[in-house]
Formats: sequence, C-alpha cells, structure tokens
Amino acid sequence: MTTLSSLLAQTSFSDADIVTLLGLKDPDDIAALREAAYSLTTVEVGDTVHYRGLVEVSNICALDCHYCGIRRGNRDIERYCLTKDDVVDAALWSAESGYGSCVLQAGERRDEGFIAFIESCVAEIKERSVSQQLPHGLGITLSLGEQTLETYRRWKAAGAHRYLLRIESSNPETFGRIHPPTQRFETRVAALADLGQAGYQVGTGVMIGLPGQTLADLAADIRFYASCDIDMIGMGPYIVASGNSMLDVGMMDPQALLGLSLRMIAVTRLVLHDVNIASTTALEALATDGRAQGIAFGANVAMPNLTPREVRQNYQLYQGKPGLDQAPAQQQSGLERSVEAGGRRVGWNSWGDPRHFGRRTAANSSG
Ligand code: SF4
Repeated sequence: MTTLSSLLAQTSFSDADIVTLLGLKDPDDIAALREAAYSLTTVEVGDTVHYRGLVEVSNICALDCHYCGIRRGNRDIERYCLTKDDVVDAALWSAESGYGSCVLQAGERRDEGFIAFIESCVAEIKERSVSQQLPHGLGITLSLGEQTLETYRRWKAAGAHRYLLRIESSNPETFGRIHPPTQRFETRVAALADLGQAGYQVGTGVMIGLPGQTLADLAADIRFYASCDIDMIGMGPYIVASGNSMLDVGMMDPQALLGLSLRMIAVTRLVLHDVNIASTTALEALATDGRAQGIAFGANVAMPNLTPREVRQNYQLYQGKPGLDQAPAQQQSGLERSVEAGGRRVGWNSWGDPRHFGRRTAANSSG
C-alpha cells in the first residue's frame, strides 16, 4: 500500500493519487501535504510572492453567468466604468509602491469603444510606468473575458503580456449548468488557445466547491490546466453572490470549502510544479488569514485591490468580499503580514513571470 509520504514524494501522479490528496481529512496528513507543496514551491518558483495591483475597471458586463454578482441580469447594482485617468492612476500607484505588475479586470464587453479604451489605458500605463526600478514598465495582466484573436493581439501590442481567462469548470456539463446556453465550453477553450497564439502568458482557473462538483472533477481540472500548458492559475472557492441566479443550490460549509480550496492549491502545485498560482482574495472571505494560508499551501501571487473605494462595493462577484473599505496603503501592510505569515517575502519591483512560460516557449522554439 502506498503511504502518504511516498505518495507526496512522487513527481507524477495518477488521477487516483490526485483524488486521494484532494480528499485528505486528517490534520496531520493535510499538514504533510501543505509542507510538500510549500517545499516544491520554493524549489520551482522561489521564495517570493509577487503582487499584481488589481484595478476593477468596470462592472458593466454583456454576459449572464449564473454564479456572478455583476451578471447582466442583476438589476440591483449600480454600474460603473472608471475613467482612463482613474485606471492609469491606480496602476501607477502600484508601480510607485513597488508592485511590479497590475491586473486590469472588467465585465466582458466586445464593442469597439471598450476595446479601444483598454488599448489606450494599457499603452499609457506602459509608457508612464517605466522607471529605474521598472525599466520595461509595469507587467500588465488583463482579465477581460473572451475576445477575438485580433483584440488579444491589439492589447498585446499595446503592452499587456499576461491574460487570465477562467474556464470555471473543465467539465462541459458543469460549465453548461453554470452558464446560459449562449456561452459555450468549446468557445472558452478555443479562446485560451487564441491567447497562447497571441503570445500571452496564459492563466485560467476554476471555481472550487461548486454544487455537484466531485473530487474527480477537480482532478480533471488540474489535468485540464496541464493539457492547455497553462502558465498561471487563478482559482477560488465558490461563494454565493447576491444577485446570482444559483442561490437555491446553496454552497459548501465555509470551513470545508476553505480546506478543499487550500488542498486544491497544494495539489495543483505538486502536479504542475512551475506555474504561478494566486492566493485569491476570496480565501479571505472564508478566513481572515485565508490568503496567508493559500501562500503556505503553495501559492506565489497575491492581488491587492487598487480599485477606487467609491465603486469597489459594486464589483462583488461573490458575497462577503473582504477589504471593501481599505485604502491601498492599509491593505499593503496587511498583505505583507500575510506574506510573512505564509513564510515568504515580497518580490518587489519585479514582474514575477511564471517560470513555466519561459520553459514552454524555450521548448517550443527549440522543437
Ligand atoms: S463572470 Fe465575468 S463574464 Fe460572467 S457575468 Fe460575471 S463579469 Fe460577466
């Protein structure tokens, strides 16, 4: 019989191994999983946590994902779109604070006005963030949904180099249950391939603890990341959102959900080795030290929220989002404590690109 310590010492894992690790219950076993993932993180991606200052550009969305608090059909929130000055100022604040990278996130829109707006924000952030500390300016990640290959290329040419597009579930049936029929699984997968073709460092992720989701589904999600050669993972617990249209199906017990989310981070690290994994803010909706715990279980990226406080309450993808009233400077000290509590240090003034991207592009160019 395979013992847990020999299982954790493996460098490759069967689906059954992954399910076993995701399902660990004994606190000592979970501590062993955490330690194995933490050590592998140090070896594969180093001992630093990289910040990406998050700017929630707009909560206007043309889509209607059932789980989402800002979906088009929710009439109970005030819609906003930041001005270009607001977006650029927030991003530049992150550069001046040593963050190295920012993320521009918004509801999904494919109209030319929005595409050109993002293009000009990206170009200005890039140009104005060049400094001695950041000779190539801020690293810019976009999280703006499914777009055409041409749009991805325009935004890349303007200066963005990473893109996060979550698959939410790699099980087409589950994907179909949590999205309206107009949103298709195959289209999302094709969009991820387009992002790779456009030259981005590509990120995706899933919701953990969706109603009806099994450990085998989560194991398949990790296999999906590998099959798409994904560079960055941004996954988080499924927490209900007011205004979502899945309220009747409920959610997991918060403590169990936190535990499962942390095990998912750790197992993803063990299977994928050199990707960047975010310790998402949603973990702090489940425990005040949720983000520190995510780091201790193998995450190496954190995304402090730099959205102006006046509009932040209107960008709630899920209920209980933490830090709605905190100024960026206040968050920074809390986050630094989280990083240190997770046993890491902050990677100031560096992009913190995923090592996986360097390796896959080197392999592609030599192959
Ligand atoms: S998850 Fe994204 S695309 Fe879906 S409704 Fe929410 S903001 Fe729009």
